[in-house]
Amino acid sequence: MSNFIFGPVQSRRFGLSLGIDLSPYKKQCNFDCLYCELKGAKTVDAMQTFPAIQEIMDELKTALEKFSDIDVITITANGEPTLYPYLKELAQQINALKNDKKLLILSNGALIADKNVQEALLEFDIVKLSLDSVTPKIFKKLDRAHKSVDLGHIINGMKEFARIFKNELVLETLVVKNINDTRDDFLSLNRVVNEIKPSRIDLGTIDRPSAYKVLPVSFETLEILSREIEHIPLVIIKRNRVKNQKKFDSNEIIELLCRRPQSTDDIEDLFDKTSKVRLNGLLNEGVVDIVSKAGIIFYKIS
Ligand code: SF4
Repeated sequence: MSNFIFGPVQSRRFGLSLGIDLSPYKKQCNFDCLYCELKGAKTVDAMQTFPAIQEIMDELKTALEKFSDIDVITITANGEPTLYPYLKELAQQINALKNDKKLLILSNGALIADKNVQEALLEFDIVKLSLDSVTPKIFKKLDRAHKSVDLGHIINGMKEFARIFKNELVLETLVVKNINDTRDDFLSLNRVVNEIKPSRIDLGTIDRPSAYKVLPVSFETLEILSREIEHIPLVIIKRNRVKNQKKFDSNEIIELLCRRPQSTDDIEDLFDKTSKVRLNGLLNEGVVDIVSKAGIIFYKIS
């Protein structure tokens, strides 16, 4: 039985993933988000209990022998994995072992301005950081961060990290009803994410029981809000896909892709048969191109 390894689990965003939990016994986080799937807990700025690297590596070696077909090894925690004091060394040891698997971390981004954390995250193939709001009042209400955490530092840290990181940076925004679900919030978010320039943005809402009484927004709201995000490939995280296929002429397809790249799921849900044929025509003519962003395929203007 593993103490630190879980899965594999199939994730539509990142592929077949084997997880490593750096805080399996209790929540240790510098946020206490309203939507957290774990119980609410006092925030911390350091882990008090954590496994040794060797303990994790022993379990990981065994798991990789058994599950050799996974796509990604995901570092996560009941809390915030960048609070783990030996993150860089751990990532280096996993890199020496993982062959063609990708190494991913799911972080809340609170410590991204910290140079040691940046150095550790440079070891990863994919870094996923949360950014629920760029408005201090909303950030404070929703993510309930430890007093040592500052939103301005997070945003500057994300910009700085995006400049030096050569692999794939994914930002994730989780939308909560009546908190960060207005057009104004997303206009501000759009300005900031276009300065950070991540590889991809994942947009989602609550879909599991949460620590505090908060409500999800509808899929339609996510779709409306997503229209405010320009230029950056964006994925709406949804359990059940909703198809709403329409006819697009070639100019409309070009306009849509100029505004923002669209994933293969978007095309499947939005485009009718004729529009898909037109899209393929544009692809063959070299007007449209296909790119992969942290495991998801997008159509974009060449
Ligand atoms: S950052 Fe993650 S673990 Fe920490 S409180 Fe928020 S949702 Fe929970």
